[in-house]
Amino acid sequence: NPFARAQYLLAAHNHRQLPPDGGFEVAFAGRSNAGKSSALNALCQQNALARVSKTPGRTQQLVFFGLPPHENKYLVDLPGYGYAKVPQDLQAHWQAFLEGYFGSRDALRGLVVVMDVRHPLKEYDRQMLGYAMRRGLPAHVILTKADKLGRGAAGNTLQAVRMELARSFADSVSVQLFSGESKQGVDELRAVVAGWLAI
Ligand code: GDP
Repeated sequence: NPFARAQYLLAAHNHRQLPPDGGFEVAFAGRSNAGKSSALNALCQQNALARVSKTPGRTQQLVFFGLPPHENKYLVDLPGYGYAKVPQDLQAHWQAFLEGYFGSRDALRGLVVVMDVRHPLKEYDRQMLGYAMRRGLPAHVILTKADKLGRGAAGNTLQAVRMELARSFADSVSVQLFSGESKQGVDELRAVVAGWLAI
């Protein structure tokens, strides 16, 4: 597992705090509570890499995880979203920071969007996919908490989301079922992210 040695590197609150833009990185986005931390932990086989419960307001940063022995290869945990408590001006700051990051970051090779299989393709998810598409970046959707649905229902959702993604974003977005609980789909996710990072 090329992600097993992942380790926290830094948290960036603004453009100046980003690491030098010379490597490869894959960003992870998702609405708060979708299961993004659990997915990162499962990907890296670590229990507490990304804190699974976070305080609203403390999540407003880009968190970089290094992947030794590779230098300049990172997983990037984008701020969760969906807490009504975040003040309006903070949201504007975040929107600008994220748009700048997506628009100009050379190292960014792909985007993973984490969605709760029971609530897929909300506005935030579409916005993140839109940022990636505008840059011509590939995106991969993981429908998490698949263990919460029966196999039939999960499969139906997968098909419906796949069709909707094809309609909205052509074929640059792939999608899979995932569970941080049962570890369903972890290998599939790992293969996609490792491919983008060339590791
Ligand atoms: P984040 O806010 O997107 O980082 O979400 P977390 O990873 O912190 O998960 C939010 C909640 O959903 C926690 O209570 C997790 O235990 C739970 N959760 C996350 N992934 C799964 C999953 O695959 N299956 C189940 N049943 N629960 C999950």
